[in-house]
Amino acid sequence: MKILVINAGSSSLKYQLFDMTDETVLAKGLCERIGQDGKIKHTAFDGRTYEASYDMPTHSEAFNCLVYALTESDAKVIDSMSEISAVGHRIVQGGYIFSQSTLVDQKVLEDIEMLSELAPLHNKAHAMGIRACLNVLGDKVPQVCVFDTSFHQTMPPKAYIYPVPYEYYEKYKVRRYGFHGTSHRFVSGRAAEFLNKNLADLKMITCHLGNGCSITAIKGGKCIDTSMGFTPLDGIMMGTRSGSLDPSVITYIAEKENISPKEMCDLLNKKSGVLGISKVSNDNRDVSNAAKEGNENAALAIEMQRYQIAKFIGGYVAALNGLDVLVFTGGIGENDPSLREDICQSYLTYLGIKIDREKNLERGKEVEISTADSKVKVLVIPTNEELLIARDTMKIVSAL
Ligand code: ADP
Repeated sequence: MKILVINAGSSSLKYQLFDMTDETVLAKGLCERIGQDGKIKHTAFDGRTYEASYDMPTHSEAFNCLVYALTESDAKVIDSMSEISAVGHRIVQGGYIFSQSTLVDQKVLEDIEMLSELAPLHNKAHAMGIRACLNVLGDKVPQVCVFDTSFHQTMPPKAYIYPVPYEYYEKYKVRRYGFHGTSHRFVSGRAAEFLNKNLADLKMITCHLGNGCSITAIKGGKCIDTSMGFTPLDGIMMGTRSGSLDPSVITYIAEKENISPKEMCDLLNKKSGVLGISKVSNDNRDVSNAAKEGNENAALAIEMQRYQIAKFIGGYVAALNGLDVLVFTGGIGENDPSLREDICQSYLTYLGIKIDREKNLERGKEVEISTADSKVKVLVIPTNEELLIARDTMKIVSAL
């Protein structure tokens, strides 16, 4: 069975085509600058590439372009789109409606559009991706939505209700939703497999540390708390996002600088976090290098981020009342041994965590970095959200 996985953004469309017989990627690519001019970059499994500029006023033209890349270009991997059994879509916000992956129908599409109120940048684009797919492939090819939020729907109210007047939850569904759920679900499942243990028996904390960062407490395979909230702005500081703050800081700066809510949202989402403190970059590699060269702001940004990650882990050890497995994933989690060592050695030795310094030097690989006598297993598990979307899609369409 071949499954196409789509991640549609407001001006981009990323895709991967999976052959599910052995879960290999046949091709992947990116259409960008949709609505402006339009460009596609496509790579086949054997390294052949196809790059072109195309007029892409909407996602439908971008979709046509990926069809050409997959079926006719010099880097084609299939003869016809009829070889594709189903399409899986990544959807950021499933809100209070979707607690699991779902087959697309008219009602589901309308709900996704309705939920764009909670994720304006993402959900509208995802809906455009689904419609583009419908326009080009018709309704004979089943489409499945996999939501970033659905894994977190198992949180109890004490974890997802914010202590503001309850009426705002009732009126507007203002609550913690959590994000990166597909990644947390993938790495927690993989961690249990790696350890040859039953997920149902484990207390686990998964740290997805990339440009966006979130930490999740997982008990018996179910999320009980997560650091991102109503939006992906909550929790630990990230590349450009502030993470949690005293809300008075926001109103105080807004008044002093005469900043509108929209401008403040921009400031907190795009100019804060590691970039805002370091004044160097949002990219951890650049900031680490600057810190090594003596840049004090860069060093502070790195120190703050690690400290905040450790504090969230500590909080979730309490939420779980124990810890069996700690997992690092995402661009930073998978590739930064210094961050992993610092967090574990400077803040978590009280849990009986011991790191094997040699093993911890691995990057981008599935590896146990704790020693044999460590009381908590510490793992690095590279995330693969697209594969989980393809698996969910296959499961749903196989049962049709
Ligand atoms: P996104 O959230 O956009 O998917 P990624 O998961 O790709 O982001 O993570 C991007 C972050 O990972 C960047 O801050 C980058 O510096 C960091 N990163 C990637 N490779 C390395 C590396 N070798 N060492 C340290 N950090 C790295």
